[in-house]
Amino acid sequence: MAKEEKFQAGVNTHENVIFSCYGGVSNTGITSALASLEAVKELGLEKAAVMCLGGLPTHVKSVLGKTQAAEKIVTVDGCPFECARKIVEQAGFSPISIMLTRDIGMKKKGLSEDIGKEIKGVMEYISDDEVKRAKELIIKTILEE
Ligand code: SF4
Repeated sequence: MAKEEKFQAGVNTHENVIFSCYGGVSNTGITSALASLEAVKELGLEKAAVMCLGGLPTHVKSVLGKTQAAEKIVTVDGCPFECARKIVEQAGFSPISIMLTRDIGMKKKGLSEDIGKEIKGVMEYISDDEVKRAKELIIKTILEE
């Protein structure tokens, strides 16, 4: 898809956009979403924002416009299904892909696996260290020339 000079709907936009997968039934999907938000908290909203993944297949004009205007489009996926990258590519964009099982060595854990056994609270499946390493990779990807 051809890059437009600026988003033309009369509003400011973000320099870079992140599309994150968010499967709330696995450690990988939750970590993708948390790390993406942490990256934006650190970078600031002028530099980057987490864009609405669902706005691409539903053709939300502002989502398409802001994505076209972005310097970088980064997808963050938890696992090899790469839901975010595929949706972004199907919308005609060429994102830089981060995939947590590949890029930070995460092991995917489906949270339903423990139902009927010893199921824990949802955040007990999330590693602060993995969120931090994923966040750092997202920030590095946004900032590198
Ligand atoms: S990429 Fe993997 S972890 Fe993320 S939403 Fe898709 S299936 Fe879930």
